[in-house]
Parts: sequence; structure tokens; C-alpha cells
Amino acid sequence: RLEVAGLSRRFGARAVVADLSLAIAAGQVTCLLGPSGCGKSTTLRIIAGVDRPDAGTIRIDGRVVCDDRVAVPPERRSVGLMFQDFALFPHLTVAGNVGFGLAGMDRQTAAARVGELLERVNLPGFAAKYPHELSGGEQQRVALARALAPRPRVMLMDEPFSGLDNRLRDGIRDSTLDLLKETGTAVLLVTHEPDEAMRMADEIALMRDGRIVQQGAPYNIYNAPADRAAAAFFSDIN
Ligand code: ATP
Ligand code: MG
Repeated sequence: RLEVAGLSRRFGARAVVADLSLAIAAGQVTCLLGPSGCGKSTTLRIIAGVDRPDAGTIRIDGRVVCDDRVAVPPERRSVGLMFQDFALFPHLTVAGNVGFGLAGMDRQTAAARVGELLERVNLPGFAAKYPHELSGGEQQRVALARALAPRPRVMLMDEPFSGLDNRLRDGIRDSTLDLLKETGTAVLLVTHEPDEAMRMADEIALMRDGRIVQQGAPYNIYNAPADRAAAAFFSDIN
């Protein structure tokens, strides 16, 4: 479970995240939608712990990982991250990438975990390959396996499907979602695509100028958008 309360972040005079609050239960997906520059990626970076807020509290499964006194480092927050460009380490094999976050684990247990994850994302036999030998869809699945390896309680995804071929996207979206639901991970997914949000979200959160202006079930937001910009966003769904 992810709980964010009163999160704020300024860059110079500009409030990029402004008193943002949000909660996501275990096994639930919230899609964060909003125009370019409204603060989505900044919000994800702060929750991940690679940037610090000026104010606000972040709890993961009830534990405070960030407030005005506490700042748990990213690798100890139980948070997984996935980006649009997958960001695989080019010099590491598939197994090296997936096992990257398991450094503290004994080698045998880590190797077993990597093998299990490669099965789960349907890439058995890929362990010794390098990222440049893989297709986009295969790289995406390696990135997913890497993000899941330390068993995060929260998964932060910044347009992780937008680099994929149209033909692959639906299948990969569905299987990614199944895996995250099965593991009871709370998911915050940034997307520019309304159809992706309608398809994947338990809840949609609409963001403008650093705030959440509306949050609710996809069809409620689709049927009763809070403002004209929100209505326009959904207008090309049919
Ligand atoms: P997009 O949909 O284009 O990815 P976004 O909602 O993810 O946009 P952010 O990347 O969070 O937007 O950026 C929000 C605003 O904050 C932008 O105007 C950006 O230029 C600014 N910004 C982000 N990081 C910094 C930084 N380190 N220093 C100064 N300004 C920043
Ligand atoms: Mg962004």
C-alpha cells in the first residue's frame, strides 16, 4: 500500500508538485494522467526516493519512508521503477540485469530467483543474452523482471509501454498487469494514453499543475470529467 500526503516540490520559484495526496491499495493500479510538464515524473522520482520533496509524507505498507525527518534510501523503500526506455545495463547479461537488485542475497538464492523471474516473464533461455540482442518487447520483460526481483510493494511506472510496437503492446500490458496483481503490488502508472488508462486502471488520478484535481474509477471520470481539459483528454476514445 502506498500513501502520499501533502507532497510538495519547488524548482526555483515554481511549485512543480503542490500539496499532492494519493493512496493506492495493494494489488491496485492507479493511472496518473496529465499534460506534459504537470509534474508526473517528478512525483514518481520523489516517491522512489531519488529526489526529495520540500514537504510531505510517504508511507509504504504503513512505514514512513519519507517525511521532514526520515529519508529512507531508494533501495530500502521496497519500490520498483520502470521507465519508457527500459534503461537496461548494456554491459550486463539478462541474468545480470534481473539480479542487479539482489546484491545482498546469497548467490544460489539470487540465481534461483532470477531463473524463476525469467520463467514468469516468459524468457526462459535468455539468461546469457545481452540487451542489444533482444527485441523491444523482450527488453521490456527483462526490465519488468528486474523491477520485480526484490519483491517491491510499490511499482512506479513511467510510460513503460510507449516504446513498444502496437502489435506487442496489448499482450505485454495485460501480462504485466496480471503479474503485478498476482504479487499484490500497488502500482502507480504514468501514461499519456487514455485507452491505456481505461484498460489498466482501477482508479485514474488526473493531475494538473502539480496537483491531483480528480480521482476515481475510470468510467466515473470518463462520464463526469472535472474540467474541460479532462473531457478533451478522453474525447478520442470510442
Ligand atoms: P511529461 O509528460 O512531458 O513527461 P511530466 O508531467 O513528467 O511531463 P516533469 O518531468 O515532472 O513533468 O516536470 C515538471 C516540470 O518541472 C517541468 O516544467 C520541468 O521542466 C520541471 N523540472 C523537472 N525537473 C526539474 C529540475 N531538476 N530542475 C528544474 N526544473 C525541473
Ligand atoms: Mg514525465
